[in-house]
Amino acid sequence: MTIHLRHLVLILGDQLDEEASGLRDFDPKRDAIWMAEVDEESTHVTSSKQRTTVFLSAMRHFAARLKARDWSVIYTALDAQNNSGTLAGELDMAILKTQPEQLVMTAPGDWRVLQSLRAVARKHDLNLEIRDDTHFFSTVREFAEHAQGRKQLRLEYFYREMRHKTGILMDGKKPIGDQWNFDADNRGSFGKQGPGLIPPPSRFAPDAITQEVIALVNQRLAKHPGSAASFGWPVTREDALIALEEFIAHRLPNFGLYQDAMWEGELWLYHSHLSCALNLKLLNPREVVAAAENAFRTGHAPLQAVEGFVRQLLGWREYVRGIYWTQMPDYAERNEQDAQAPLPAFYWTGQTDMACLRDAIQQTLAHGYAHHIQRLMVTGLYALLLGVKPQEVHHWYLGVFVDAVEWVELPNTLGMSQFADGGMMASKPYIASGKYIDRMSNHCKGCRFNPALSTGASACPFTTLYWDYLHRHADMLAKNPRMLMQLKNLNRLSAEQLAEISAQAQAHRLQQ
Ligand SMILES: Cc1cc2nc3c(=O)[nH]c(=O)nc-3n(C[C@H](O)[C@H](O)[C@H](O)COP(=O)(O)OP(=O)(O)OC[C@H]3O[C@@H](n4cnc5c(N)ncnc54)[C@H](O)[C@@H]3O)c2cc1C
Ligand code: SF4
Repeated sequence: MTIHLRHLVLILGDQLDEEASGLRDFDPKRDAIWMAEVDEESTHVTSSKQRTTVFLSAMRHFAARLKARDWSVIYTALDAQNNSGTLAGELDMAILKTQPEQLVMTAPGDWRVLQSLRAVARKHDLNLEIRDDTHFFSTVREFAEHAQGRKQLRLEYFYREMRHKTGILMDGKKPIGDQWNFDADNRGSFGKQGPGLIPPPSRFAPDAITQEVIALVNQRLAKHPGSAASFGWPVTREDALIALEEFIAHRLPNFGLYQDAMWEGELWLYHSHLSCALNLKLLNPREVVAAAENAFRTGHAPLQAVEGFVRQLLGWREYVRGIYWTQMPDYAERNEQDAQAPLPAFYWTGQTDMACLRDAIQQTLAHGYAHHIQRLMVTGLYALLLGVKPQEVHHWYLGVFVDAVEWVELPNTLGMSQFADGGMMASKPYIASGKYIDRMSNHCKGCRFNPALSTGASACPFTTLYWDYLHRHADMLAKNPRMLMQLKNLNRLSAEQLAEISAQAQAHRLQQ
């Protein structure tokens, strides 16, 4: 039977909020909602079991919530008979069935998805109304205005504008504490004694819906990486709010100081683990930032912790989204350093004798999570120094993390971590030797390599590859004043030492 609708409202797996702009004027008598689980979203890059479970479970919980309001939801399950396997195919069928006057949606988070939905709308000669996503403090238009006429984009300037615009952590026109940025106070390590007792993370036992999804994922995507056995992510708004409350109460006060620290076997530390709930839109960054600011104003958390946290959300999260939508689609293809090596196979298993990489990769595959410094200065750094093709690195990051949606993952991977955009996103490549990892963690204590050595059987591959990277890219780096110190150190090495390092780096590459 064909129905005639006013609006067919499209809701994607990362748009799970009843307050979303796409649902603003929803009229249950004349409109319906369309949601679809399709293989394409787990296979266009290989999605880990944790990641697919998060999306499908959160979607099913959200659909149940909408149906409980007696709203009409056209929902295709992954294993439904005749599932076409693509968003475009499913939307095509839903349009034929419902004959809507127009399609409505909140702006999606993925350029590829936007193009494919637009193509379906065009095919049916239908208007696709795309509404601003209100789960951000700024619009892409505002970012484009900020970027216009600037030779270089830098987070700090954008962040200050956002602080002025929102009044967050402001005292009139001045930043609270007379300082915009407490980054220098955010680099503590745990010292020899380790992190001690850390408040436990918020984990949520899978309910019947999640258990059903895990069984489906294990059966249908059996060969996909990782495991869903430890699954405990919030997949409803209620659970996400509990996770927020627990973070603010127990971990925020120490978030700043230990933001960059790592410790073997300790994956949760003082981080919020809220990126997944934020990116699914179970939480709005406004409520998250307001809760953090309130913790400062009531004396519960120090300014350096709260500013450090606010900077991530009001600064970085908005900034990377602006970069993504103003630079796509060319951005995804950038490879300024012409890196061509394949991603080492151990990224999919964690089986390597480099202790820092083993820990970061194994926990990522087990939980779909690693904190920022593990992503940037362990898995990302190694790929950068090795010279892995940025698009291969991008596909790994997009596939394995529960919080991975392209608008946020791509600029972080390709720009910040791999410097493949030639410095549009970051002012210099984030490079370091094994000594940095040694300073920020205890990984090196249990590793067969020595972070102080760049050649010989015990040389740390990070250290060898670090000097080799500086040497290979010295001309490009010499144009960057922020790299002068590191290049000065490179120049202290003799020609013989450099030749040995190059040979060892090359031998290491061939083994991967
Ligand atoms: C190579 C690489 C890939 C990344 N891929 C993703 C991704 O797919 N999805 C994602 O959400 N983040 C990504 N990040 C950013 C960051 O690592 C994660 O947001 C963070 O680790 C999530 O854990 P958390 O919620 O405990 O964060 P916290 O450390 O508690 O930080 C608080 C919040 O700030 C936001 N945030 C922090 N850093 C960034 C950043 N650089 N960009 C955008 N938002 C930020 C997140 O929403 C996060 O929840 C990536 C970083 C790198 C270096
Ligand atoms: S020695 Fe090198 S490879 Fe081993 S844990 Fe330290 S940094 Fe990682």
